[in-house]
Amino acid sequence: MSEHLAKQRSTLVIFGASGDLTHRLLLPGLGTLLRQRPHHDIHLVGAAADDLSEQDWKQRVADALCEGGCSADRSTAIVAGTEYKRMDATDATALHQLLTELADPERPIVLYFALPPTISQRACEALARIDLPPNLRLAIEKPFGHDLESAQKFNKLLTSLVPEEQVFRVDHYLGKATVLNLIGLRFSNRVFEPTWNATNIERVEIITDEQLALEGRAGYYDGAGALKDMLQSHLMLVMAMVAMEEPAAIDQLELRDLMVHALRATHLWADDPVASSRRARYTAGTIGEREVPSYVDEPGVDPSRNTETLAEVTLEVRNARWTGVPFRLRSGKALGDGFRGIIVKYRPIVHPVSGFHNAPEPNVLAIGIAPETISMQITTNASGDRWDLEQTVLHSELGESPVRPYGEILDLILSGDPLLSVRGDMAEECWRVLGPVLAAWHNNEVPLEEYRAGSTGPTTWR
Ligand code: NDP
Repeated sequence: MSEHLAKQRSTLVIFGASGDLTHRLLLPGLGTLLRQRPHHDIHLVGAAADDLSEQDWKQRVADALCEGGCSADRSTAIVAGTEYKRMDATDATALHQLLTELADPERPIVLYFALPPTISQRACEALARIDLPPNLRLAIEKPFGHDLESAQKFNKLLTSLVPEEQVFRVDHYLGKATVLNLIGLRFSNRVFEPTWNATNIERVEIITDEQLALEGRAGYYDGAGALKDMLQSHLMLVMAMVAMEEPAAIDQLELRDLMVHALRATHLWADDPVASSRRARYTAGTIGEREVPSYVDEPGVDPSRNTETLAEVTLEVRNARWTGVPFRLRSGKALGDGFRGIIVKYRPIVHPVSGFHNAPEPNVLAIGIAPETISMQITTNASGDRWDLEQTVLHSELGESPVRPYGEILDLILSGDPLLSVRGDMAEECWRVLGPVLAAWHNNEVPLEEYRAGSTGPTTWR
């Protein structure tokens, strides 16, 4: 189908061309996009402070597009046309020169800031000092600010540069496959849609447990920690999709309005930042065959920062559908199990039939994100003695999307559709909810516990 779509011309400037995100996720994602949707006609520009030669950049692009499965013809054309600019992204004169060189009314310009967050903000401050073309789009990586006040300030700056619809705050957990799978499952199944409420659901858990430890990313992670890195952005947004009302259509206005509507109703459990949150940090241990050092002994870590590598917060969505249902968000590094997804625990049935040897267990729905899976635990009669009840799991693998999450994100940015981008008010609501937890942790009102790398978390948490 995509071959018949009108050509979509654009110029994509990646600031941070020599960085990890560009190399590992953005360019290979672009490769999968160009393989599946050849109507994108892209002039690619890489920019970084690094002294990378144009030849090195072209080689990186060629390798990454190949890894993403882009055809040799497309890859050759993109590589031939791509340029590398050595520049400081926070220099207003250099930005002005770049935008003047790239100006073309037929090609919207996307400035993708794959930069450390403070540098992205300074680059946007520099953009405020120069004239900008009307067809400019800004793609910003998370985290968006470091608290509510800084997020509000950054949002104000961004919308002084371009309209909100031209700002793309990227959160790769909002990949198209995840969003569509969740909406499809919730609203296309009569077994789920009418039961998706506090009458039937006892609690919801949204989890991203990683087996990966720090992996050399102290420079960024030690200043952020699990709560800012994962809960404030990714998990809060997934929670909003689990809790939101039914969209009339899957478009950017409807989806983002409904997500922020759910976020506005969200509060810490019992409004208590201390009782509703827990934090911990890993000590030395083994994950599979790997020996993992204690977090505090990882290169670049400052132990006095008290950075948590495991964070947990319990929330309540205070509306008619959800009041009284705890939504527990948890994310951690160096854990033994790597589950990422949503677990919906149903309430016990209202009245168990008498006569069976045992009582039925409540249903549990597990929705896996990356890999995309669905498992439903139901009660059935045991194959041996029919008077026994047992648990049966119905499991389905949803298959991988041919376009990787960063490919989907780029597809929408290059098409000018902010469907999956985090709107300014959504980012602010996430900080509003979790701000009191950050303050309580900063004041040491919540103990920083420990867990062995490779375990399931602190033993006291079970
Ligand atoms: P890196 O440190 O690997 O890369 C940062 C890049 O920014 C480098 O290319 C660096 O160039 C460049 N840079 C720094 N200062 C300037 C400047 N003043 N002008 C021009 N270029 C500059 O970071 P990551 O790629 O890991 O992260 C980038 C962003 O992406 C962050 O916001 C992060 O949170 C986000 N992100 C990263 C993910 C990942 O897995 N890496 C996943 C999801 C989001 P030089 O080396 O020359 O200084």
